[in-house]
Amino acid sequence: MTADDRRIVVIGAGVVGLSVGYSLMKRGAKNVVITDREHVAAGSSALSVGMVETQFFDPVDVHARVLGREMIDRLVADHELHFVRNGFLRPTTKNEHVELFERSVEVQRDFGVDDARVLTAQEIAEVAPPVDTSNLVAGLWRPSDGYLDGYLYASLLARLTTSLGGRIAQQHRLVGAEKNSAGCWQLSFEGKPGMEADVVVNAAGPWADSVAELLGSTVEVKPERHQAVTIELGSTPDWRLPCVVEYVPGSTEDGLSLRHEGTHQLFACLHNERSVYPRTDPTECNPRADEAFIEAIAELIMDRCPSLDECGLGHGWAGLYPMTPDGYPIVGSTSSDPSLVHVVGGGGSGIQLSTAMGEVGADWVLDGKSTLLTDGELWHPERASLSATGR
Ligand SMILES: Cc1cc2nc3c(=O)[nH]c(=O)nc-3n(C[C@H](O)[C@H](O)[C@H](O)COP(=O)(O)OP(=O)(O)OC[C@H]3O[C@@H](n4cnc5c(N)ncnc54)[C@H](O)[C@@H]3O)c2cc1C
Repeated sequence: MTADDRRIVVIGAGVVGLSVGYSLMKRGAKNVVITDREHVAAGSSALSVGMVETQFFDPVDVHARVLGREMIDRLVADHELHFVRNGFLRPTTKNEHVELFERSVEVQRDFGVDDARVLTAQEIAEVAPPVDTSNLVAGLWRPSDGYLDGYLYASLLARLTTSLGGRIAQQHRLVGAEKNSAGCWQLSFEGKPGMEADVVVNAAGPWADSVAELLGSTVEVKPERHQAVTIELGSTPDWRLPCVVEYVPGSTEDGLSLRHEGTHQLFACLHNERSVYPRTDPTECNPRADEAFIEAIAELIMDRCPSLDECGLGHGWAGLYPMTPDGYPIVGSTSSDPSLVHVVGGGGSGIQLSTAMGEVGADWVLDGKSTLLTDGELWHPERASLSATGR
């Protein structure tokens, strides 16, 4: 364990900032404050649908999610985190995806996941009864994947961080930052006393680019608006829907994403891991779902699950994916300033990536680098693909 007396201020108390703070405290840092402009999980973290899964193709994508899942399993065992293992299915209508799915099973096996496999259309019908499989060719499936509630997860991370001596300063909006002649950060917060810091962590999620600017830096994070809606099943059905996401990583086309919620509701949204939408200013993000989205998703649901035609659509909402140009998070410092560590860009996977982002971010704060992840250079803040056109 590394003891660290430096004053570390984390900006943003979403799941990512809290994961950095928790990781730092576990590793012996003594002086950590996590600040938030509002409160714990005031941003995207409480607006997610909370799926946690490992069904990806690139080793770094799988490795990061396996680490996240290990943490969640520990939190379930030791702190009663509510994690529903209802399985995760990535169905496809295209034959060319089958090879990718088979490769994913191999990559997952390399990282210790032994229950992922490729299902036939007939097997999909068995694990996801309301799904129309007539045009599906296969599905990537792991029965022990599942979902959690982002707000409860963030609250638990906050409680664990404070129990180890970390401090959470809610209602602390960073509005300015300067460095004094000794290289120490002087941070200003709206209507609150300032703070001094030796290291600042930018974990401001969709606000990351404007927070970077306050800190005299830049970071390529674009907030993109994504919406979700509940499907009211009316009564408790005799089936349970796993997480079903008809999006294949690497694609720029949105895919329908569905999961059970409680007993008689489903959550539905449109998912994409690539940056395809215009920037939405976080201060102007309409939190209600649009009519056009509701109509579009209703049509997609009818196509994929025609037996749900009697169900109504309920409450809809919108939040922001913090997207990067190449779809990988940005974690680390630039060579010009090791006292500023960015831990940003979880995109539409920030809940499931938060543990790995937190661990890698803590490595950068404590050691000035990280070797945790296979192909971890893909998360480096100065990688070439941030200025190129993507993966
Ligand atoms: C509809 C929807 C569905 C999703 N579904 C999933 C899913 O199934 N699985 C998954 O893994 N991910 C999902 N996501 C993505 C996930 O929610 C995000 O990637 C993740 O929550 C980002 O976490 P974060 O901590 O980086 O950002 P946030 O949770 O947004 O936290 C950033 C924090 O920074 C604070 N902040 C901003 N500016 C300042 C400032 N100046 N001073 C101090 N504090 C500041 C904000 O108040 C905020 O609390 C979904 C997102 C949406 C919108």
